[in-house]
Amino acid sequence: MKLHHLPYILRRRDAILKYFIKKGFTLRFTISLLVITAILLTMLTSITSAVQVNRASLISNYLNKNESYAKKLASNTNELLITMQENIRAIAKISEREDVMDIQLFDDLFQENTQYFNSIVVADNNRIIRALSPRTVGISIGDKLTSEQSKMAVDTKKPFISEPYRATTGRLIILVSAPIIDKSGHYKGFVGGTIYLEEKNVLSNMLKEHFFGDGSYVFVVEKSGDLIFHPNQKRIGQSVVQNDVVGKVIQGQSGSQRVTNSEGNRFLAGYAYEPSSSWGIISQTPAEVIDKPLYNLVKRMLLVSLPFLLLILLLGWWIANRIAKPLHTLAQFSDEATLRPVPAENIPDIRSYYYEVRLLSQSVKIALQNMNQDLTHLRNEVKIDELTGLANRRAFDGMMAGWVESNIPFALILIDIDHFKHVNDTYGHVVGDDVLRYLARIMQLMSTEDDLCFRYGGEEFGILVKHCGLGRAKDIADRLREQLAVTKSPTGAAITLSAGIAAFPVHGRSVKQLVKKADEALYQSKKDGRNRTTVSKLTDP
Ligand code: GH3
Ligand code: MG
Ligand code: MG
Repeated sequence: MKLHHLPYILRRRDAILKYFIKKGFTLRFTISLLVITAILLTMLTSITSAVQVNRASLISNYLNKNESYAKKLASNTNELLITMQENIRAIAKISEREDVMDIQLFDDLFQENTQYFNSIVVADNNRIIRALSPRTVGISIGDKLTSEQSKMAVDTKKPFISEPYRATTGRLIILVSAPIIDKSGHYKGFVGGTIYLEEKNVLSNMLKEHFFGDGSYVFVVEKSGDLIFHPNQKRIGQSVVQNDVVGKVIQGQSGSQRVTNSEGNRFLAGYAYEPSSSWGIISQTPAEVIDKPLYNLVKRMLLVSLPFLLLILLLGWWIANRIAKPLHTLAQFSDEATLRPVPAENIPDIRSYYYEVRLLSQSVKIALQNMNQDLTHLRNEVKIDELTGLANRRAFDGMMAGWVESNIPFALILIDIDHFKHVNDTYGHVVGDDVLRYLARIMQLMSTEDDLCFRYGGEEFGILVKHCGLGRAKDIADRLREQLAVTKSPTGAAITLSAGIAAFPVHGRSVKQLVKKADEALYQSKKDGRNRTTVSKLTDP
């Protein structure tokens, strides 16, 4: 991620958050997220612990390996030094007998020791060189040795292994020396075998093979902490005494530990002390060698767990679905139910194993059923026709039944628009509706407060006229027809209607019978050519 992308990323994040806040997180999304998070955390934990355990075991493995290797090298070095000292002593013995060392013999002795020493020298008690092999080292027979170590050899008259020092020839060397003492016990000088530290030598021959191809290597320090062997030859002679491990090994300790060297590199080091020379041998492996096996381990674990992971994810998704689906259906349905009334039989049957879901589903169901009942009650109570605003059929029935019961005389005028189908077919239903409203308005304008104008259904209307005889009723109907004849309807032209009249109590004593009589009269009007009023016959006076 680049820094200049940041504002863009923040904007995107805000947009996404806003989206979710607006929409809300769905239950399925939340449960799925929970399952995925749980799985990922579990995986993270198991991989972390596996890495930690493996890392610890790898580290301890490398530490142990290096420690045993350093110890083995220390013991090899010890044997080597003993052999070298014995060989030098053997040459010293030979030198006791030979006053003047035969050159050929001395070269032969050196040849037998080339695997140990870079050169061998015999010096007398004045440190004058009496024999030398090879003779190409930069000094000659008859020269005087000037180094502190040659002086020490003469002064102590004892065998010793020197510290590294710059020899008369300028080389950094280690001297293995033994005194020459004749049969009568007089000190005659010493034999010295040299190790050229900065060139190919016995130590480098023995130690350089320690390469596993993983960057591991061995180095050797002498007792003051100077390097006497290191794979990087340039470093020989340098002091590394500040290195933690070197500090310990030159104090005679052996062991292993993690260490950071002077160049800041981390190593897993094993170290061993070689007592006869007081040298320390350190074998170490770069700490990053454990990174690769750990990386492989993580890769393998991820690969192995991937199918299971997918399986669990699928299972999680399925469970999330199962939990969320009934709630989702319920929520969707409730949302719809707030917009329009829902018949009770449409309420979904929510099946779920979850107590809360079942409870919720039942509550919603009961609430909706109650709501539907309330709605039905409400509708029953409404007595107004929605389209025209006149009384509806129910109101008409109720009113007429009341007047019959109370024995109030009245007339019933039934009205049917002529050729209304034609209006619909020609001008469309919207205009048709307008015509219905238009008729209703005129009916209301022409009736009194005591009259009840109503819509019987479709394009059939009626008027109940209280305390009214047949003559007045016919007048009302005819006036209405006349008014329509001179008024433009929403179609642009006048409309006509046919009417039929019956009266209580003369035409019957029941609502049903009165409606039947008025209807028959209306039919008669239609039959006689429409746009007219017919009063029902009084069959049986
Ligand atoms: P008639 O003279 O014999 O009465 O002929 P008509 O075309 O009026 O025939 P009828 O009474 O059988 O037809 C009634 C028509 O009224 C049928 C129906 O499409 C229409 N209609 C009924 N209710 C409504 C309504 O609420 N709005 C509209 N636009 N049309 C309606
Ligand atoms: Mg009709
Ligand atoms: Mg009609």
